Amino acid sequence: MYTELIDLTTISEEEREQTMNRAGEIIRAGGLVAFPTETVYGLGADGMNPDASARIYEAKGRPSDNPLIMHIVDTAQVEEIAAEVSPDAGKIMDAFWPGPLTVILPRKRTVPSTTTGGLDTVAIRMPSHPDAREFIRRSGRIIAAPSANISGRPSPTRAVHVYEDMKGRIPMILDGGPVGIGIESTIVDMTGDHPIILRPGYISLEEITDLVGEAEIDPAIAGRTPAKDLVAKAPGMKYRHYAPKGQMILVEGETARVVKKINELTVLRQAEGFTVGIIGTEETLSLYPEGIAKSVGSREQPQTIAANLYRVLREMDASGADYIYAESFFDEKLGDAIMNRMLKAAGYRVISCRR
Ligand code: AMP
Ligand code: MG
Repeated sequence: MYTELIDLTTISEEEREQTMNRAGEIIRAGGLVAFPTETVYGLGADGMNPDASARIYEAKGRPSDNPLIMHIVDTAQVEEIAAEVSPDAGKIMDAFWPGPLTVILPRKRTVPSTTTGGLDTVAIRMPSHPDAREFIRRSGRIIAAPSANISGRPSPTRAVHVYEDMKGRIPMILDGGPVGIGIESTIVDMTGDHPIILRPGYISLEEITDLVGEAEIDPAIAGRTPAKDLVAKAPGMKYRHYAPKGQMILVEGETARVVKKINELTVLRQAEGFTVGIIGTEETLSLYPEGIAKSVGSREQPQTIAANLYRVLREMDASGADYIYAESFFDEKLGDAIMNRMLKAAGYRVISCRR
């Protein structure tokens, strides 16, 4: 299949009009279109058409019990797919939509079980990215979309990442430039008596608690090690995700010690003949004389770390790193979300240089 990559940032109004029309036609015919959102690039299909959502699983190589998020542009569309919206769910949608937050609600029977992975619930998000909104609106459908990567690869934060993974598998990629946030939406389960965060993201636990009172992070994903006896409520959280090809190891502790430790390990591995990648920051990059060191962003601006993380993981793959040593990050708002992705990418391998 020929994969068209269309740069929305440079085309004329008229070409944009034609592109959005064709994207809508592909969706209505049951096909797939990748599109930018504020979090990561999505791989979209008509969420109410079981054959179309089945194509998403096929293109990604995704396990079929891992449900898809339904993307809407208008709150009225919630009624088409959710059986019930509690007052707190309503508050959360009002406060954070359009934006990087997904709510889990009881589903209507009309939603195909291929889309919901056989669950009784449905995941819904209203993105804020203008290209995403136009694409969804013009398709006239509710768009089921997971991240537009091959399962197990880092989520795409640029159209070229989608192209690397989806070339030959889908007919169209809409390029809206690099995304703003760079990590997937916060997922909050609103089907119980208080909100439970199933996946941390840009919208934090504190922001949700401030709005509706008691809320918690799913204990199965809250820890620094994979929870052995607990089953994550978001089926996707159980899969090994976001994994670079090399073995990644997080190094945590006071920054000066971390840098020293990473340099020691790098020299050691290089002496053994391995290629070593280092994930550092603006503040530390010049302190790594050996290895392939890249900055993931600035410690002063953790949102830059979220925005660059998946790109840097892909670059580590491309550099052929056998070992990847990464600094750790703590931040009140974004720390959970960033560390959740980094711990998974590292397969929970952490070296602590606290003493
Ligand atoms: P992705 O958009 O590819 O990053 O994945 C969507 C995430 O949403 C996965 O982790 C799914 O397990 C989760 N998800 C989707 N629908 C539901 C649902 N009904 N209940 C719980 N988690 C869900
Ligand atoms: Mg994904």
